[in-house]
Amino acid sequence: MKGISTLQSLTLRFGALAVALTAYLAFGTSGAEVRADQTVAQAAKEFSPTDPRFSALTQLQREELAESILGSTLFTVSHELGHAIIGLFELPMLGPEEDAADTFAAIALLSVGSEFTHRAMLDAAISLKRAAEREHRTADEPVFFQQHRPNQQRAYSIVCLMFGSNPREFKDLAESAKLPQERQETCTYEFEQADDAWNRVLRPHMRSASSAVRSLLRRLLGPKSANNSHELIEIRHLDAPGPLAPYRQLLVRSGMLEAVRETVLYQFVLPKKIAIEAKSCGEPNAYWNPGPTTLTLCYELMADFAELFPPQ
Ligand SMILES: [Zn+2]
Repeated sequence: MKGISTLQSLTLRFGALAVALTAYLAFGTSGAEVRADQTVAQAAKEFSPTDPRFSALTQLQREELAESILGSTLFTVSHELGHAIIGLFELPMLGPEEDAADTFAAIALLSVGSEFTHRAMLDAAISLKRAAEREHRTADEPVFFQQHRPNQQRAYSIVCLMFGSNPREFKDLAESAKLPQERQETCTYEFEQADDAWNRVLRPHMRSASSAVRSLLRRLLGPKSANNSHELIEIRHLDAPGPLAPYRQLLVRSGMLEAVRETVLYQFVLPKKIAIEAKSCGEPNAYWNPGPTTLTLCYELMADFAELFPPQ
């Protein structure tokens, strides 16, 4: 049955980057989205962090916490996927790669356009804002020599691209995020410019609609072949020691990494095998390593997103 609703969702969007992340399949439109939202909702329901800080949370608050962790995590994985795609397709960079990876993540999630991906962008913006506030509280100055722009600026850029993609739908969001009127005025242009640029550079690496469907059918129905099979993207959920175990469980149960794999395989002709792995790294981080072509998400980063959740 999975195949049928997946195919229904495939018919909804063809064309450039909109083809693009139709699938975060699981998070895309139609029946598949409903089922995936259920997967995320179910994973959130079962989330039980061991940190005593969260022991007083009600069931509903714990679910909100889990969903905000998953949202910020999806944005982060999309950002790292941006680095991966820039490297794998040898895309030209006309500005800092960190900015490009953020823009890729925003455009990709907007092109899926589901409630979950919109929420993921919002969660990411809120996490970045809270991280900036934490820096302020702990008297850590923003580090201006680092590759990423300061957190608050990254948060505003996400909100600006959301607003620019659909000013009517996201007007309230822009207002509540206190995006000043003068910036709001340029957001549509910023979104259209980014959307056009990414579509143009990615087009040569994207499957045609018919090849995407054939490839998907092969993966769903056909014998495994080296080409287009799930083997092209290996997913690894490595062990998580003690307090990190609930975050591993949340990630596994949400099916997020598998959904990202499905999307990438559906959209792109990858030149080589890659791996997406979640593991304990000893620090909150996520990165793309071009040598072994591995995208790594550290469970500690998910725990850090949890730490940014306001105390109840
Ligand atoms: Zn980055």
